[in-house]
Amino acid sequence: MKYCEMSEESLKELLAELNNEYETIKTKGLSLDMSRGKPSSAQLDISNDIFSAINDTNYTTENGIDCRNYGNLEGIPQARQLMGDLLSVPAENVLVCGNASLNIMYDCVARSMLFGVMGCTPWSKLPKVKFLCPVPGYDRHFKITETFGIEMINIPMTENGPDMDMVEKLVKSDSSIKGMWCVPKFSNPQGIVYSDETVKRLAAMTTAAKDFRIYWDNAYAVHHIYGDVELLEILSECEKAGNPDRVFEFCSTSKITFAGGGISAVASSLANIEWMKKSLTVQTISYDKINQQRHVLYFKNADGIKAHMEKHADFLRPKFDAVLEMFKKELGETGVATWLKPMGGYFISVDTMEGCAKAVVAKCKEAGVVLTGAGATFPYGKDPKDSNIRIAPSYPTPEELSQAAMLFTLCVKIVSIEKLLGL
Ligand code: PLP
Repeated sequence: MKYCEMSEESLKELLAELNNEYETIKTKGLSLDMSRGKPSSAQLDISNDIFSAINDTNYTTENGIDCRNYGNLEGIPQARQLMGDLLSVPAENVLVCGNASLNIMYDCVARSMLFGVMGCTPWSKLPKVKFLCPVPGYDRHFKITETFGIEMINIPMTENGPDMDMVEKLVKSDSSIKGMWCVPKFSNPQGIVYSDETVKRLAAMTTAAKDFRIYWDNAYAVHHIYGDVELLEILSECEKAGNPDRVFEFCSTSKITFAGGGISAVASSLANIEWMKKSLTVQTISYDKINQQRHVLYFKNADGIKAHMEKHADFLRPKFDAVLEMFKKELGETGVATWLKPMGGYFISVDTMEGCAKAVVAKCKEAGVVLTGAGATFPYGKDPKDSNIRIAPSYPTPEELSQAAMLFTLCVKIVSIEKLLGL
């Protein structure tokens, strides 16, 4: 029975039972963590063979580039091809950079602030700069824009991506909106894949700002768990729509090989790539080509990456299953929480009743289960409804996850009933 349909008396009885259960669990002294969206060391072991992929006989690329030396700022051709194939874009539109895509995103914002986007006024010289932020979203994106004093506007997510009516209306009328964060495939934290229609509308919409750019963070391009879902390739859609320079697309192998120890890439129009290269040549002489060559030798091609991702999916699936099964069993009938089954990515996003998320996170912590802080999935750390909680099932074992998810559901129930009773 849904909690909101229960009598006050029944709710009070249930609350007493649940509180007893909670106190018993507390005595177990749990110490579990569902806050970190990172692979466990056992999952990292999947990629250990990459350590021996490069040696003193194969550090020279097929076309004769000595990866030990300076040069080839844009990345070795084979790595550009590999990352281009992964994103379904031509290699010439790809720059392969260092160990982290977040770093390239930060640089793109910083470059736009300091020097302006392709001849436009530097954002730092403008009275106001705004970014659209689909919510819930990735906290580190929001931290970048917050750090540069860029005002962030929340855009609600739907099952097909950001609310496009709202996006189109805002970008058309406000020239201070210069950018938009997007995680188009297996979004962080909901695992949503943008529909073809959403991609087409983003590519074609009219923007008041000439220097408006979409920050298309395709961090989970190949990270399916329950079967792959196609994402429409946005660069060619932008080209077709007459807006070829609209998108900076980012990705990395952080969750393909080693987190923070992989290679990253940015894909964009040739004009945008030239603009980026102008300042990149000042920032660095070249990136780590040895790691680029290591990844090329290890994977050989995009099919090699896809086969590797099957191993990751097999590894992560039981973990996501453990959490999702517990949610369905314990919360399915209560009507006090909603969540989507993500088809891939690293997270499960739960929405509690309004005004309950912070209390649920605190209650879990008190009993030994750490969750991502409530509010973290919103700009400025402020969830206006205090209802979204990001669950990260990748790090603990399935057994630990069942325990942690069980405690989580118990806390959701207790906090929700207290709210319904006005306690
Ligand atoms: N983008 C998204 C959406 C992420 O969830 C993460 C990591 O959790 C990153 C980027 C970080 O990527 P990188 O390690 O390449 O900086």
